[in-house]
Formats: sequence, structure tokens, C-alpha cells
Amino acid sequence: MTGISRRHFTQGLGVVAGAGVLAGRGRAAFAQGRPKVVIIGGGAGGATAARYLAKDSEGAIDITLIEPTKTYYTCFFSNLYIGGFRSFESIGHSYATLASDYGVNVVHDWATGIDRDAKEVALASGGRVAYDRLVVAPGIDFDYDSVPGYSIEASGLMPHAWKAGTQTALLKSKIEAMREGGTYVMVAPPNPYRCPPGPYERVSMVAHHLKSSNPSAKIVILDPKEAFSKQALFMEGWEKHYPGMIEWLPKSIIGDIKNVDARAGTIETDFDTFKADVANVIPAQTAGTIARDAGLANDSGYCPIEPATLRSTMDAAIHVLGDSCIAGDMPKSGFSANSQAKAAAMAIRADLLDAKAFPPRFSNTCWSLISTDNGVKVGARYEAGEDKIAKTDGFISQTGEDAELRKATYEESLGWYAGITADMFG
Ligand code: FAD
Repeated sequence: MTGISRRHFTQGLGVVAGAGVLAGRGRAAFAQGRPKVVIIGGGAGGATAARYLAKDSEGAIDITLIEPTKTYYTCFFSNLYIGGFRSFESIGHSYATLASDYGVNVVHDWATGIDRDAKEVALASGGRVAYDRLVVAPGIDFDYDSVPGYSIEASGLMPHAWKAGTQTALLKSKIEAMREGGTYVMVAPPNPYRCPPGPYERVSMVAHHLKSSNPSAKIVILDPKEAFSKQALFMEGWEKHYPGMIEWLPKSIIGDIKNVDARAGTIETDFDTFKADVANVIPAQTAGTIARDAGLANDSGYCPIEPATLRSTMDAAIHVLGDSCIAGDMPKSGFSANSQAKAAAMAIRADLLDAKAFPPRFSNTCWSLISTDNGVKVGARYEAGEDKIAKTDGFISQTGEDAELRKATYEESLGWYAGITADMFG
């Protein structure tokens, strides 16, 4: 952190003690024009923040959203695309309505750097965008070295498909082209990672596809963990729908991954070498590179924030949301990012426009589809505690539930998907 940034940080701490100070200073500074909020990343966090800031400030804030892709493919429901329940087009969303109906300046470009002293974001195209407040929501990036032998190049042969779009389509095409009786090997990620039940929903969807198209195929999960989200529910579902097809091997059985060879299609562990016909390697994850490069992350690789406002503890002019932030008890999910974005948007409006701010309430539910009409869920509500976003109560589907309830749970997830994407993109 530079000396000037340190001073900003110290000023920010003062502001927490006496909230009016920053608002007063802010209004004076913005007297010549509308305050500028720049948002890096148009995903579950960033798109929601843009829409809520625009909707609730009614033109009083100049909002710029920087996002390189013109179509955002949701990771949520990307497993259902792999399973054949959704089309690729149905998980793609455009930013057109945010621009046309909400007046958001949508800039399709990469943010390449954040100058925290000048309060400017540098763009790949060469321009710079000034901000009064910055929202950083770039999602995750991968620690490729966490799986020896894996790399960005290797992901072309052994896709992670943990960012949706071309990677997801590549994985699906490999599964469809797999030889009869072949083996799909997943290298699951270590904690923390986006969407805790996601790898196991993916396995369910791959099994669902293979059960009809390639029933003698096998699925092996090489897991660096000893347990996983909704484990009892998935295990029960796999036994019921895909008996004998899925083998889950935790760290205590496989040891560490020693090497992957993308050309040979092999994955070597401490005790064995697995030959994959399709390999799906999901490495360890960190906050998006742009956030780490700007000095917003700590040693964990993720960005510490103040629980009620998502304001970075490293820089009072910046809010970090979604997968990149350290959200206490909240898992890294699209639902969480959407919920956090609303709290951050409220805090920014309070800060810049003296709008009223209320104690935020956060919530999350992660639905997973195990087989046709067999949906399960886990979820919780949270509030901003002193040091972290803290869970207040939670719920989870139970093993042995009847088919009607599972179908209702799946249908609930369809409603959620329609709702959250409308909430993000208008
Ligand atoms: P993202 O949604 O990834 O958005 C980040 C955006 O930032 C991207 O569009 C990216 O292009 C952009 N960006 C990155 N760097 C830059 C830069 N330098 N300049 C400009 N833009 C940049 N969550 C759920 O709630 N429910 C589910 O059912 C669910 N299922 C999932 C299934 C899978 C297979 C996976 C992988 C994830 C799933 N998730 C689910 C998790 C969810 O997708 C993420 O937690 C969520 O997208 C996080 O939102 P975000 O805004 O932090 O990041």
C-alpha cells in the first residue's frame, strides 16, 4: 500500500466512527457534477450493484460498469446445461437493458489496473475512468500452480468450466464425445471456492447425461477435501439414480495430486495414476487478479471488507463484493453476491447522496439438481456482525424426502434463476 493510500485508509477509519464527516466532504467534492461510481465486473455482484445504484439514485449518480464480455454466461445453471436441462443460450445475458433503461455507461473492456491515489481505473484499450467510489466485483481467478502440471493452456484440454461460457461448452462437447465405457475424472477444488455444492451437482449432471448416452461410463472424483456440501444428499441421490457409476475419493485415500499431464490425459496422485477420457480440473481459487494487484487482498488471497457496507478495509473509497471478498459465514455464490451488492449500493448512496441506510440483511440459498425433478437446497440468513457477516439461521433439505417435495424444490430454483437474472440485468 502506498503512503497516500495509507492516509486514505486512516481517514476511512475515522469516518466509521463519525459517519457524517465523509458525507459532508463528499458533497463538497461532488458539487461540480454528479458523483461517479465505477464498477469493475458485470457478474452477479457487479451487475446487481449497477442496477440498484441506478434504480435507487434516479440519475443522481454517474455509473460506469466495466465488463469485457458482451454476453454474461451464468455459472449458475451451467451444470444444468451440461446435464441437458438448459440450452447454452438460456444461460447467456446481455447488458443492453442496463444501458438503455437504467442509464448505466456499459464499457466492454478489461480493467487493467486501479490507481488508488488518483482514483482512476485503467482500461486495456488505453483509457482511464475516474471514480469517487469504486466497486470491485471481478469474481475469482485460478491458482493454476495448486494442481502441478495444470495451466491456462492445459485448461484447453482439461477444462475447469468454473467460469461459464466457452469452457462450459468445451467440457460438454468432451463429455458427449467420450468413448463408450470411458472415464470422466474430476479434480475437485480445495476450500474456499465458488459454489460449494457445485462440483457435486456437476457430477450429478454428468452422470445424468451418461446414464442414457453412455451407461457403462464411470465417474471418479479426486477430492482434496474429506467432506463436501450436501454430502449425504448427493450420496443418497447417486446411489438411487446412478448406482455403481460414481466413485468419490477423498484426500485420505488419494493423498495429494502430484501431476496432471493434459496431453496424456493422466492425473497422478501420491498413490495412483488415473487415465481420464475426460478430465475436469478445478484448481484452487483466489480473488480476481485486478483486486489482488490493487492491494485489496490479504494473505488469504481474498479481500477483507467491513461487514455492513462491503467497504474494503484497505481503501475507504472501494467496495469489494461477491466471490472476491471475505464474506464471513456466507458462501461464495451468485445469490450471496447479489445480496451483498444491494447492501453495498445502499451504503454508497448513503455515503454520496446522504440517502438513508438501514442495517443490511443478507441471504443465500444454493439449489442443486441431482436428477430429473430431484432438487435439493441449503441456505441461510445473515447479518452484519462486528467482525464478519454472521449466520443467523439456516436450513437444508433432508435425506429421504418424497418426490413431490424434491420436485417443488427444483421448481423453486427455476423461479430463483428467473428472478436473480432479472434483478441483475433488468
Ligand atoms: P462473477 O459472476 O464471476 O462476475 C465477475 C465478472 O467480472 C465477470 O463477468 C468477469 O468477466 C468480470 N471481470 C473479471 N476481471 C475483470 C477485469 N479485470 N475487468 C473487467 N471485468 C472483469 N451460485 C448460486 O448462487 N447458485 C448456483 O446455483 C450456482 N451454481 C454454480 C455452478 C457452477 C458450476 C459454478 C462454477 C458456480 C456456481 N455459482 C452458483 C456461483 C456463482 O456463479 C458465483 O459465486 C457468482 O457468479 C459470483 O459473482 P461475482 O459477481 O463475484 O463474480
